[in-house]
Amino acid sequence: MPPTAFLLHFTMKIRVVFALLLLGLGHLVPVRAVDPVSLKLETVVLDPGHGGKDAGAVSKDNKTKEKDLALKIARKVRDKINEGCPGVKVVLTRDKDVFIPLLDRAEIANRNKANLFISIHINSIKKPGPSGFSAHILGESKNKNNDVFGLNMSVSQRENAVVQFEDDYSVKYQGFDPSDPASAIVFNLIQSAYYEQSLLFAGMMDASIAGTKLVRRGVSQDNFYVLWRTAMPSVLLECGFISNPDDLSYLRSEKGIDEIAQAIYEGFMQFKAQYESVEGTVQASAPRYGIQVFASSEPDKKIKGDYPKKVIKVGRYYKYIVYPGDDWAVVRENWKKVKKNYPDSFLVEIDGDKVTICRK
Ligand SMILES: [Zn+2]
Repeated sequence: MPPTAFLLHFTMKIRVVFALLLLGLGHLVPVRAVDPVSLKLETVVLDPGHGGKDAGAVSKDNKTKEKDLALKIARKVRDKINEGCPGVKVVLTRDKDVFIPLLDRAEIANRNKANLFISIHINSIKKPGPSGFSAHILGESKNKNNDVFGLNMSVSQRENAVVQFEDDYSVKYQGFDPSDPASAIVFNLIQSAYYEQSLLFAGMMDASIAGTKLVRRGVSQDNFYVLWRTAMPSVLLECGFISNPDDLSYLRSEKGIDEIAQAIYEGFMQFKAQYESVEGTVQASAPRYGIQVFASSEPDKKIKGDYPKKVIKVGRYYKYIVYPGDDWAVVRENWKKVKKNYPDSFLVEIDGDKVTICRK
């Protein structure tokens, strides 16, 4: 088993328990005693941003609202997970056009003992130029003037501003003032226990979105109310700009929504495989399947796409294999993505240094 994967799970668990014991907050969030050998991604919570009286960002012509796009994408992702991964329970924080306070969204995820929380949003800015997809995790913003993308207002400022739709928000969010280190520390500690995993999923999402028309804006960390109280790896996705004409027409098309949902689904599948790899590697110490993209006499050729890869020397040649893994279904799913860059790629079975074409 890769010791890093085991340690990641182990240290994560210890840090959560420690943080909660230290602060006497065992009652605040459910902490599961997880046996690393049986770690499974059983439940994912999809959180379509905004809803009801809170429309989120609105297109210039007033015809398209962030709340509707976010719900459409979330439903599509749910359907794809239900179909591709029937064993996984998918919970939506809302499945209709209703208003839900930010804290309640985290509460839904905690109550359902989710293993992953994905908050889905659409970006917006006054200028029509900026476009693309970005993944965000909770953390201290590196950009002190809060101008994350060289824009006027940071994504977190805009997304946090929705609390003003909540009745007693000034009381409820009093403890969450990001500028007040004393009040922020408890919740930062809880979510920081999942920092590596949140970052891992955000990175997978960033790579996965390359299969869509949306430009990659990368991963950033910032203070998001909605991610603060979740006790699991949590990521907020901004799926394009409603203020950019190209992104908007893509988001208005069925194809656009489907491709974005597919990218989120693929990112999810990849994360699931990694999340469960502790169990997988107990039974098998090496990946059994993969996708061969090419063979070469050179050992370190560059490959197109950010795929996890493994190079196996067979005779005089090096076989370049991407998405090496134990889960046949996951490898086959990833193949769809790889074929865009490598139409001639094929599935292989790996047994030590033997690589054979897989026809099952
Ligand atoms: Zn939003």
